[in-house]
Amino acid sequence: MPAKGWIEVNELHCKGCELCVQACPQEVMSLDKTRLTPKGYHPVQLHAEGCTGCAICAVVCPEAALTVYRQIESRPVAAAA
Ligand code: SF4
Ligand code: SF4
Repeated sequence: MPAKGWIEVNELHCKGCELCVQACPQEVMSLDKTRLTPKGYHPVQLHAEGCTGCAICAVVCPEAALTVYRQIESRPVAAAA
C-alpha cells in the first residue's frame, strides 16, 4: 500500500508559480482559481487523493511555502521466543 501524505500551504509565501504542480509525480496539485492569497496570487492546493508525502513539491518550491506530512503505519512487532 503506498504511503499517504498531505501538504500544508503557507499562503503568505505561495506565489502561484506552479513549479510544484509540474513536479508532483502524482499529479494531485493545482492552483485554486477561486481564491487569492494576501499578495494576490492563486494558491496551490491538493485537488485529489493520492499524495504520497514524497516531498518533491516542497523541494522545488522557491518560496519554501510547503510543508509535507507523511503517515507512517506502525507494524506489529514479532514477539521474542
Ligand atoms: S512552488 Fe511554491 S510558490 Fe510555487 S505554486 Fe507551489 S507552493 Fe506556491
Ligand atoms: S508530497 Fe509528493 S505526491 Fe504529495 S503533493 Fe507533494 S509532490 Fe505531490
